[in-house]
Amino acid sequence: MPHWQNWSGKQRSKVDLLHFARSVDDISAVVTRLAKTPGKRLRVAGAGHSHAPLVVGADQVLDISGLSGVISTDLSHQRSKIWAGTPIYMLGRALHDQGLALRNQGDIDRQFLAGACATGTHGSGSQLQNLSASIESMTLVDGKGQLRVCSKATLGDDFEALKVGLGAFGVVTEIEINLRPAFRLREQSDSMSGAEVLENLEALSGSGARFEFFWQPRQDAALVKTLHETLDPPVYPIGEEGERCGWNFEVLPNHRPHLHTEMEYSVAAEDGPTCFAEIRELLLHRFTDVHWPVEYRTLARDDSWLSNAFERETVTISVHEDVRNDERGYYEACEAIFKKYQGRPHWGKVHYAQSSDFIASYPRWLDWWRLRNTFDPAGCFLNDFLSSVSPKGL
Ligand SMILES: Cc1cc2nc3c(=O)[nH]c(=O)nc-3n(C[C@H](O)[C@H](O)[C@H](O)COP(=O)(O)OP(=O)(O)OC[C@H]3O[C@@H](n4cnc5c(N)ncnc54)[C@H](O)[C@@H]3O)c2cc1C
Repeated sequence: MPHWQNWSGKQRSKVDLLHFARSVDDISAVVTRLAKTPGKRLRVAGAGHSHAPLVVGADQVLDISGLSGVISTDLSHQRSKIWAGTPIYMLGRALHDQGLALRNQGDIDRQFLAGACATGTHGSGSQLQNLSASIESMTLVDGKGQLRVCSKATLGDDFEALKVGLGAFGVVTEIEINLRPAFRLREQSDSMSGAEVLENLEALSGSGARFEFFWQPRQDAALVKTLHETLDPPVYPIGEEGERCGWNFEVLPNHRPHLHTEMEYSVAAEDGPTCFAEIRELLLHRFTDVHWPVEYRTLARDDSWLSNAFERETVTISVHEDVRNDERGYYEACEAIFKKYQGRPHWGKVHYAQSSDFIASYPRWLDWWRLRNTFDPAGCFLNDFLSSVSPKGL
């Protein structure tokens, strides 16, 4: 029996069938067959970099890595249509060769475009939104096997539901994304004590730069990174994280080879400093064995119904643990703090949130489900996790 597992290996499950799709016809055939076998459920796998149980817990998994590359670019409107299974690291140079760049991206570039968008993947910067906020249109195969082009023009405001779609509306085949001219970045890093970071946090967060810090609990010290746009020429070799100067796609992604798990919550920007201060106290006094850092980032609000930054300026705080360790006690204690600040969990990371938590934190939660159910009335694209949080009686 084939099995599927995520990047860290902590999410794994046996499946009846593991499909590989190389064309839209392949995908339509898989979904049409599935629709004829009531009760069977299919999840699409991107690059498997989610820590949450999003791909496991279904009967079949569809790997879309065969659908990769830039389909076409509209230079005058700075938009590209891109196959859903394109890894972000392949996209960087391909867009750059056309003078374009993603507006923002995460800390690594291993994710596939559709996978990253589906969970609200983000980088850092108080004026920068989630990657999914740049989606102009998306083509998908819905639960009846029909190919649908979805955009604001075809769906109106409902389109905002699909951008952070958790793989629950159908199999996304291509995404049209709005871009910006290619740009260069200079990265700087400074060390600060935990107390200094807290003192300067509001000024640092509000500077408008791409800013983040990693706080090391054992040393009570932070590595503060800021990235400014520059006209300076790139410096090659591009060098180590912290002091780089180069094109956006050369500087933004990092190499994170050490297997770990991660919990990340988003809170309102104004609550970021006090929430971080509580997490810091927790690590300094209670979880003194943890030596993985706490990461603090900023994020601009957007309109996507299940975005962690839905209608609020945001700070994201994430905690990490070695994949070999049992993270549960530590993460539960962190989650209790995040919840005090009406935190929203990152969809792709570890959390123990339940249906009632999502109803409380996402004003459009029920609308999202109502719409989703019209795309997939038989529930083909649900899995154990989604079924467990789906509102009853809709
Ligand atoms: C080392 C590491 C660093 C990370 N850094 C960041 C970061 O800086 N910022 C951040 O926000 N997140 C970060 N993440 C989380 C990561 O970006 C998200 O979990 C992202 O969703 C992973 O993308 P993926 O392609 O691996 O998708 P997967 O994990 O494979 O899938 C994620 C979701 O997308 C759905 N999906 C994938 N493809 C399709 C498709 N074609 N159609 C429909 N649904 C689809 C899946 O069904 C699933 O629900 C990091 C994760 C790791 C392991």
